[in-house]
Formats: sequence, structure tokens, C-alpha cells
Amino acid sequence: MSTFPQPFKSSVSHWQATNRGTQSLYGYNKDGKPPAQADIVIVGGGTMGASLSYFLTRDGAEGAGRKVVLLEAKDIGSGASGRNGGHVAPAHYLRFKSYQRPMPAGTGASEEEVVKIIQAERTNLEIVEDIVRKEGIAEEIEWWRGELMNTHTAGQLEDNLALYNDWLAARKKYLGVDDDAGVRFVKNKLEAAKLSRMKDVVSVDFAPTGSVHSHKLCTALMRLAIQSSFSDFELVTWCPVNSVVPKREKWIVKTAKGDILTRKVILCTNAHTHNFFPKGDPVGDFIAPCFVQCSHITPPPPFSGTGAFKNTVRSHHGWYWMQTKGGGIVIGGGDDDLVDNRTHEEGFNLFIEDDSKPMEAWTKLQSKYMPNNFPRWGEEAEGEGLDRAWGGILTRTKDTLPLIGEVPGKKGMLIAAGFHGHGQSRIFSVAKALSKQLATGRYDTELLPQSFELTMERLQRCRTVRFPGHEQEGLVQEYVNVEQSVWEEKASARVEVRAERQRWCVIM
Ligand SMILES: Cc1cc2nc3c(=O)[nH]c(=O)nc-3n(C[C@H](O)[C@H](O)[C@H](O)COP(=O)(O)OP(=O)(O)OC[C@H]3O[C@@H](n4cnc5c(N)ncnc54)[C@H](O)[C@@H]3O)c2cc1C
Repeated sequence: MSTFPQPFKSSVSHWQATNRGTQSLYGYNKDGKPPAQADIVIVGGGTMGASLSYFLTRDGAEGAGRKVVLLEAKDIGSGASGRNGGHVAPAHYLRFKSYQRPMPAGTGASEEEVVKIIQAERTNLEIVEDIVRKEGIAEEIEWWRGELMNTHTAGQLEDNLALYNDWLAARKKYLGVDDDAGVRFVKNKLEAAKLSRMKDVVSVDFAPTGSVHSHKLCTALMRLAIQSSFSDFELVTWCPVNSVVPKREKWIVKTAKGDILTRKVILCTNAHTHNFFPKGDPVGDFIAPCFVQCSHITPPPPFSGTGAFKNTVRSHHGWYWMQTKGGGIVIGGGDDDLVDNRTHEEGFNLFIEDDSKPMEAWTKLQSKYMPNNFPRWGEEAEGEGLDRAWGGILTRTKDTLPLIGEVPGKKGMLIAAGFHGHGQSRIFSVAKALSKQLATGRYDTELLPQSFELTMERLQRCRTVRFPGHEQEGLVQEYVNVEQSVWEEKASARVEVRAERQRWCVIM
């Protein structure tokens, strides 16, 4: 049963607030009714649903010559996709170990699989770049391609270099590539301090990345699907799907505005996917909704114009930010600080679906981050500093990887959800692969790592894993404690435990 309509009004992100004009799709076909039949129905109009619509409606794709319908419970981009940090940042060496660490702290993937997971995110960046170039939408979606700067404090450089070299060796072993992976380190302390302008930074590294106006990206993809001359594509907004029930070889997609009969239905419903499964079902249980927040900051003059950031940044605190075309800074991070400050418990933001209000303590942290960490930030004038904070609901999954493919035992029902706060670095590969899978019936291992596939074996393997902060009695609790205590023993202080947690939680 759907949790829509929601009994609250969602907060408004910077992206949503700056895409309200006639080019936006606010209110698009709001009063429309779904057609009685369709070949393919997509549920959910975030970036996942929009990019799948885009790929399905290209010449020769599975949706060409067919009726494709997308049903969205609210306006498009109203979920995580319209309220994120704007990064399209492929993972690199920093994820190399955490993906190998056993669940629940990590993914439990083999070294070879981790190399493939990271590589798929690089492919994802190229896919976005390809769409942007082909469709000529770079300016419209404020596409930026450049380098992400990771900052390090004292002692981190050696660890990071060792991890980087391990990752390069594994890439060589499993992919046969022998290069620097486009990553460069700045080890000189003075130079790193100058580049970062940040307190305590002694070295940095740079890696290939992208950033985007996320609401405009979602809008542009959806518009391209609507305009397709190859498919009969229809978007119906404010049309929550209440359930999907089988009817012989087909599915009835039930909404308050009417039902659609279809052969194939794809749930792109991210944090809300559990609504389609009974309580306790291993698929529904696999994905947990998780509240996080971002803010928009108007920088003072030293960080404007010639002083504006030349890169997107992920700091040694696990925070992340980018400077928009208009010069405002969109910043995310702070959930770990709330736990470290002991004002909040581990897992405090899990299983929350209400994004109507940012959390006061969190907003306060985000308002202080820049002044506290940049000595040249200076005193903020009236109108400078944090001017908007918003909440968003992303997902955590049991093994930190997305759930992609056909639901076991439910032919024709597919899922593309559970991006573990890192969707824009995965969604485009997933969408391209899924549009192929809808034609061939086979999961595409050329574009996607095997470990993303929704299989019975994976569900079983993860069945007893609990989400951090939500452990329950029994075996799993013991397992969590053992893992945790071994890790804590090794840690020189809370710092290392925190670093590990950040890797589980990382968003962007
Ligand atoms: C604050 C924040 C910062 C983030 N920062 C980044 C970042 O910088 N980089 C990055 O890669 N990722 C980031 N993420 C994560 C990223 O935004 C998500 O991984 C991605 O947007 C997921 O896209 P989606 O389409 O799967 O989900 P969503 O955008 O959540 O879309 C799901 C859609 O399904 C609809 N829906 C659900 N149930 C139903 C139903 N029953 N009927 C009809 N419609 C339904 C919802 O209304 C929603 O529009 C961030 C997320 C948040 C919240």
C-alpha cells in the first residue's frame, strides 16, 4: 500500500526552487488519467525513472513503437533526485576497501567485484557526458565536468596512497589497465593548503567527476522522453500507484485515478519501494529510507568570482560541496558529526520518510561548516551564509549496493532502486542496462557489476543483516558487535571508527 498522498508538504530544495519556470514540468499532466493499457509502466519520476524513460524511448530501444507510461506520485524530481548535492562523482580508491569489508560495515564483495563496481561508476560518468553531448543540454542542466578534490589531514596521506596503489594494482590485475586512473595527488603541504584554503589540510587528491543542476537534469530527461517520436510515451503526475497485482501473464498497476494493464512494470520508487511488498518481505526489507539534508550558502566575496571554488570537494570530515553556476554553494554532510557530538544516536535518520523540515541541529552545523573551516571566509554580511536548508529521503541497502533487475518469482516486475545515497553515479548505467534487459530478458553484466543484480541468493545472504543503529537481538547482533569491537580495537581513536562509518554512509 502506498504512503502517498503524504500528510505533509515537502521542504523545497535549491534545485527545485530554481526550476519553476515555464521550462520546468511542474504540474505537467497533473489532471491526466493513466491509460487502460500500456506495454511498459515505470513507477517513479526521479532521475532513475526519467533516465529509464529516456533510454526506452530512443530509436530501436524496447519502448520504440510501444506505449510507455510513467506514473509519479507528485511532481517529477520531488524525491531525492530533486533535492540532492548535485554531484555525479564516481567512486575511486577511497571505496576500494570498504566495499570489501564484510557486511554490515561494508559490502563483502571480492576484490575483483569491487574493481568492477568502481569502474561501472566511471562508465556512468561517460554515459551522462554522452547524453549531454548528444542532446545538447549542457547549458540547460548546468553540466560541469572537472575534478573532485579530496582533502586529507595529517597522517591520512600515507593510508590514502597505499589504498590508491592497491586499487591501481587490482585494476591492472582484473581490467588489464595500467594507468593512474586519472587521479593525481598533491603531497606538498603548502600547495595543498593553498589549493584547499582549508584549515588542517596537508595534502589533497583530484579525481574525475561531474556536477549538475539535479532537478533540471531530471526535467530534461523526462522532456526528451515526452518529445520522442519513436515511442508513445505518457507521463502522468500526481498519480500515486497503490499496488501492483498479477493478472495472468500481466500486471495491473492500480492507482486512484484508474488502473493500467501492462506486461512489464519497473519500480523506480527508491525509498518507497517497500510499499509494494508485504512487511517482512526480503525485497521490501532490503531498502531502508534515510533522511539527510543539504543547504545552500551564499558565499562572502573571498569565495565568489575569482575566489569561487574551481572544483567540487569532499573533505576529510566526509562533507561535500559544489559551487553552482549562480555562485551559491550547495553543501551536504554533518550526519556523522551529530552522532559524534552525541546529540544523536547511530541510525537516527533511518526509516524516516518525512522530508518536510530540515533538522534544526543539522542546519546549524551546515551553517557553521564554512566559517569554521575556512580561515578566509570572514564575517558574513546580512544575506550571506546559509539561506536555505532542505531534507531529502535517500536509501540505505543491506549490502550498500542497489537492487536491480527482475523480482524473483514475479516475471515482468522489475526494480531499479536502493542507490545508497550515491544514485547519480549509478543511475545512468543502470537505466541503459535495464532498457536492454527489458528487450533481452537478461541482466546486463557488460554495463553493471553482477553484485547489483536482484537475486534470491543475495536476498538470502543479506536476510539477517540489520541496519546500523537498528540491530536486533540474535545472531546478527553478535556479529555486529564482534565486527565493531575488532574494528574499534584497531582504531587509534574514534576517528577511525568514524572514517569507516562515513564510508558506509557516503552520499554523493
Ligand atoms: C540531501 C541529499 C543529497 C544527495 N546528494 C547526492 C549527490 O551529491 N550525488 C549523488 O549521486 N547522489 C546524491 N543523493 C542521492 C540521490 O539523490 C539518489 O540516489 C537518487 O536521486 C535516487 O533517484 P531515484 O529516481 O531512484 O529516487 P527518487 O528521486 O527518490 O525518486 C523516486 C520517485 O518515486 C516516486 N514514487 C514513490 N512511490 C511511488 C508510488 N507508489 N507511486 C508513484 N510514484 C512513486 C517518488 O515520488 C519519487 O519521485 C543525495 C540524496 C539526498 C536526499
